[in-house]
Formats: sequence, C-alpha cells, structure tokens
Amino acid sequence: MQTIPLTALGHFVGGKQTGGTSGRFGEVYDPATGAIARRVAFADEGEVDAAVRTARAAFGAWSETPPLRRATVLFRFRELLLRDLDRIAGLITAEHGKTIADARGEVQRGLEVVEFACGIPHLLKGDVTENVAREVDSTAVRQPLGVCAGITPFNFPAMVPMWMFPVALACGNTFVLKPSEKDPSPALALAELFAQAGLPDGVFNVVNGDRVAVQALLEHPGIAAISFVGSTPIAEHVYRTGTNAGKRVQALGGAKNHLVVMPDADLDQAADALMGAAFGSAGERCMAISVAVAVGDATADAIVERLRERVRALRVGPGTAPDVEMGPLVTGEHYSKVRSYVDLGVEEGAQLVVDGRSARGESWGDGFFLGGSVFDRVTPEMRIYHDEIFGPVLGIVRVDTVEEALRLCNDHPFGNGVAIFTRDGGTARTFAHRVQVGMVGINVPIPVPMAFHSFGGWKRSLFGDHAIHGAEGVRFYTRLKTITTRWPETTTGPEFTFPTTK
Ligand code: NAD
Repeated sequence: MQTIPLTALGHFVGGKQTGGTSGRFGEVYDPATGAIARRVAFADEGEVDAAVRTARAAFGAWSETPPLRRATVLFRFRELLLRDLDRIAGLITAEHGKTIADARGEVQRGLEVVEFACGIPHLLKGDVTENVAREVDSTAVRQPLGVCAGITPFNFPAMVPMWMFPVALACGNTFVLKPSEKDPSPALALAELFAQAGLPDGVFNVVNGDRVAVQALLEHPGIAAISFVGSTPIAEHVYRTGTNAGKRVQALGGAKNHLVVMPDADLDQAADALMGAAFGSAGERCMAISVAVAVGDATADAIVERLRERVRALRVGPGTAPDVEMGPLVTGEHYSKVRSYVDLGVEEGAQLVVDGRSARGESWGDGFFLGGSVFDRVTPEMRIYHDEIFGPVLGIVRVDTVEEALRLCNDHPFGNGVAIFTRDGGTARTFAHRVQVGMVGINVPIPVPMAFHSFGGWKRSLFGDHAIHGAEGVRFYTRLKTITTRWPETTTGPEFTFPTTK
C-alpha cells in the first residue's frame, strides 16, 4: 500500500519546470525494489504545441547568436555536468537500474558529445570559391533548421539525449526533447543545468509523455527535424510519419549484434569481452552482443566452457551496491518479456547452458532481477536468434567457416554493431570490408564511435541518411545555402543565354 503521495514529474518549458495539465500520468519504477517511485506527467497535443511554440519563439535570437557565444554556454554546461556527474548517475541508476559505475560511464560518454559540440564553430565554416566566373564568387554556408525534436529510449536516459541536443544547439537550433517515460528524471536534471549555464529560456525544452506526445511532435508543423532512438518498429513509424510531414528524420532502431570468434583468437580475451558486452547493463544496450558466432566446434566448446562458470558467477544486485556487475531490468513488464524468451529458447530446442531464471540473489527482493542466460546451438531459424531480446541472454551459433559467419551477419535484418576476434589481420580486414553492418569492432566487442566520429547502424537499425553526432550530426542539424556574389567593376548589358563560365 502506497501511503506517501507520489511526486509527479512535469515538463521543462521556457526555462522552468512546469506541471502537467493533461491529467494523464505514467508510473516510474525503482527497478531494484520493484516499487513505484514516482509518477510522470504525459503531455497532450496542447502541451506539446506550447513547448514547440516556445522553442520557435527562442529560435530567432539563438540562431543569430554568434557560434562562439553559443559554444560558451555549452562550455558552462559541461562544467556543471562534471560537477553533478555523480548526482545524475544516481538518478540513472534509481530509474534504469544499471550499476553506478555504468551510469557514470554513460554520463561521461554524453559529456564527450558536449565537448565535441563546444568545438562545432570549426565545423560551421563554409566553403568559398573565388572567381567561379569573372568577378563572381561562390560561398556555401550551413544554417540551422529551426526547432528540432529528440525522442529517446530508456536504456541511456542521459547519453542518448546528449547525442542530439548539444550538436543541435551548437548549430543554432532550438530543441524539444521527449525522453523515455520509464526514466525521465535525468533529462529534467540536464535541462536544469542548462538554465544554470545561462542558456536563454525556451532554447532547450523537455516534454514528458508517451505515444500521444510523440505523435504530436511528428505532426507538428513547427518542427523541422526529428532525431529518434529506440526500437525498430517505432523507428520505422517515426521515420515514415515524420518524413511524410516534410521533416528531416534520423531514426535509429534496434539491434542484434554478433561477435565472431575465430579459432586463432585469444579465447580468454574473447570470453571476457563476451561477458561485458552481453551482460553489462543487463544486456539493455543497443550495442550489446547478443550472438556469439563460434567458428569451428573446438572454438565453440572452449567458449562455452569459459562462459559457463563466469556467467554463473555474475554478481547481480542493486546498481547502488558495491561490486555489483549487473543490475535489474528496467520494468516488470520488460523482465517478463526477457524471461519469456528464455522459455522460448528451450521450446525452440536451443541448449540452455546457464539458466538465468533459476538464479536468486539475497538482495533481490521484488526487484526486476534476472540472472544471465547462455544458449548453445542456436540456429538462424529460431526466434531467439532473430528477435532483439534486450536482456542478459547470449546465444551461441556454431559455424564452420568465416564465410558462413559473414553470411550470418549480413543476412540478419539488423546491422547496428558487429565484432570479430582474431589474431589474423587479413581475416579481420576482409571481414570489416565485407560485413553489412554500420559499426565494426576488431578485437573490440562494443565498437561505439567517439563523439567526434558518428554513430549509426545499417539496414533496419537506422532509417534516414545521417548517423548521429560527429560531422554527420552537424550535417543533419544544418542545411546548405550557396550564395553567388558579383561585385562588378564593369557593367555589361543584359544576357539572355544560360549563364556559363566565360
Ligand atoms: P521504444 O521504441 O519502446 O521507445 C523509444 C521512444 O519511443 C520512447 O521515448 C517512447 O516513449 C516512444 N514510443 C514507444 N512506443 C511508441 C509508439 N507506439 N508510438 C510513438 N512513440 C512511441 O524503445 P525503448 O524500449 O525505450 O528502448 C530500447 C530500444 O532502443 C531497443 O530496441 C534498442 O536497441 C534501441 N536503441 C537503439 C539505439 C541505437 O543507437 N540504434 C540506442 C539505444 C537504444
């Protein structure tokens, strides 16, 4: 029985927190205890419209603010983020469940995008060609788009929003963020820090909500561009609806990332890499490895042997407890979904080497905890191979050759990340060259590009033309204008033929 009234989180619009007026709320859980921790207001169309109008009103002055002055605000935001890094990591752990160390890493990776954005004035320099014709110069500049929106998933409630808004703002846009309703607090904390950093009111806004708020953003004529990160069905819906409404859209979707282990690999290193990449953050990472592809039965047997004990020994508990390696899943609903995939794997005939369903920890209580599971002899027809499970479940597929491993990766509809572990440079190079996946690791299990590179998958892991952050992010959040200039020293008469270079 809940005796204390639950706090309800609202929105952040026009430089201040605002309460919700729609009367609709969602529940935010503490995944480590299973209790409802607070409520979050769900915006309706009217509230989304008010946020977009506020951002639109702020656009004129912000887009005309010199890029260096915009960067100054981002520098101050960076300092405040560093100051409050532990507090924000605590908010992430409280609502997402991941360990504090992992949450700190998440904020750090977001911070790196802020640092990249501080240097964006350099990337906003245009191109000039003198004398494209006699006394005529051509200048190409990139200008901001207007109000941009970000719609983000639960698994990185601070980092993924920071893949988007620092770049968008540095380029001169204003922003409306719709974070995941499962863990909305970190986004509100970031908005508060921006206000402290001196960002003009209305430049960065947060509306909380569910599909109603998303639909309102997708259809709003005041929104110029949408960045989405989440599951593939919603990414596809966002891409189609947003582009249909004339917006620029980048929509990053789900994943099923393979790690290929060659017979010549250092198998201890490969097993360690699989542990972190499959079970870190309870597998709730879009770059998590969920399939190990072992080339040769001897490789597979050796990997299974190494994983068996390591997975059983995983320290699972509340993210705030010392030495914990894996926290709970985000909600009870997600816990049930992931668990049902372990049931399904057994039904489908895969060999369950470690059963996370039977694990039990003293500190687990009613939290959404599930132990790590490993399936051997998974085959491509199985749904546990095909579907994104997004939990601590690793499948091992046995193949005979690297060619077969490559075909497997290329035939899978997702193409977010992939890795190969080998000591052979030639094999690694051929694999990296031929694999149909956007981010490739060679002896690196989670090849997440740094902030100054760009992040994005292929196939059904990304809808749209631009990856996120880095130079691609700058291109996404700006549009090209070419100015042709003539300051004639001599006058000529009218010309009626098509202009050509003389
Ligand atoms: P999700 O698709 O359920 O939710 C993402 C966002 O979409 C949320 O803000 C949510 O409110 C909204 N949303 C959910 N259902 C909607 C609907 N029917 N209509 C409109 N909007 C809707 O994703 P999630 O469960 O929060 O996050 C996990 C997923 O995100 C996984 O599939 C993971 O692979 C993916 N992800 C991808 C990347 C990447 O870079 N490719 C990064 C992180 C997460």
